[in-house]
Amino acid sequence: MSLLPKTARAAVVAEYGKPIEIRDLPVPREDELEPGALLVRVDVASICGSDVHQWDGMTQTLAPASLPIVLGHEMMGTVVAFGPGPREDSIGQPLKEGDRLLWTHVYCGQCHECRVQNTPTLCRRKKQYMRTNCERFPYLVGGFAQYCYVFPPSGRVRIPDGVPDGVASAASCALRTVVHAFDRVGRIEPHQRVVVQGAGPLGLFATAVANHAGVSELIVVGAPERRLALARHWGASAVVSVEELPTAEARLARVRELTGGLGVDVVFELSGAPYAFAEGLDFLRPGGRYAVVGQLGGPLTPVQAALFVRKQATILGVQSADIGQFWKALEFVRRTSARYDFEAMLTTRYPLDQINDAIQNMRAFREIKPLVLPWAS
Ligand SMILES: [Zn+2]
Ligand SMILES: [Zn+2]
Repeated sequence: MSLLPKTARAAVVAEYGKPIEIRDLPVPREDELEPGALLVRVDVASICGSDVHQWDGMTQTLAPASLPIVLGHEMMGTVVAFGPGPREDSIGQPLKEGDRLLWTHVYCGQCHECRVQNTPTLCRRKKQYMRTNCERFPYLVGGFAQYCYVFPPSGRVRIPDGVPDGVASAASCALRTVVHAFDRVGRIEPHQRVVVQGAGPLGLFATAVANHAGVSELIVVGAPERRLALARHWGASAVVSVEELPTAEARLARVRELTGGLGVDVVFELSGAPYAFAEGLDFLRPGGRYAVVGQLGGPLTPVQAALFVRKQATILGVQSADIGQFWKALEFVRRTSARYDFEAMLTTRYPLDQINDAIQNMRAFREIKPLVLPWAS
């Protein structure tokens, strides 16, 4: 194994909404690794919208955390040490030191949700990176740090050659969640129409996935223009700018106009805007399916409940993903990178010391998908 330092630097949230601290945390020794655990050197972590809300405390109502925590849950790394046990990933591929890796949150595999419902993302004993206390072993339990401990039950998959580090990192939350949303929605036929709400990383990945699936009418609703241009480039047949059309009425009229007055068969809510859920329900044609991904909390918004009945709408909540969706996300990137320049989504590179600036710029929508480089100075 490589020589491991005694401590490693990590971006720690000790109090919600307060400046993030850079702390030196203990690095677990190789002989301390539990059977099935791994130690990974984090080469690149990317910033997800929910990191901002983990920092400001908004997601606390959805998924309580035990402060202090190491922020960051979207990351890739290189295996540097193994606990006892087989050296392979979750789909049986051999794994060795130096391999690049993505890994899932901890799903126990032994509860009703994991085993009977087959919905590991709803695991009742779920443990999440960035929500786990970092003052107890194994300390390095989040993405914005030089190392991360991969818990024994965490799904893990080797990153195929040809997938750049930054894109692999973005696949570990944004893209694998989009893949999960497409899995939940099921088959979309080429004649069907799709709206993607949001032109952030989730919306842009969803645009590429829908385009690749052969959806011919694909409308992306979002802003700003730079992101909508990328959406067009990646296959959107039309874009609706929330800056040019600031009211829900105007946007609904535009979507109706684009769809012969009918609305669309499938809507993906990937924006997280509080008003977006009610608006997406309006975009849906009767019999449509609505995958809701972006909503993490925030204020209550009024919804016309009778629309669910009148449209016989199917509403599908989606959170996170399991290891199969991580694999599909990486395969999608590997096979389609000639068509979609995923690196165009990656914006500023921040060393760990600048994590506060990074979070503030993310919060102000000045970034699409910024990267944190824990080893850069
Ligand atoms: Zn995320
Ligand atoms: Zn479970």
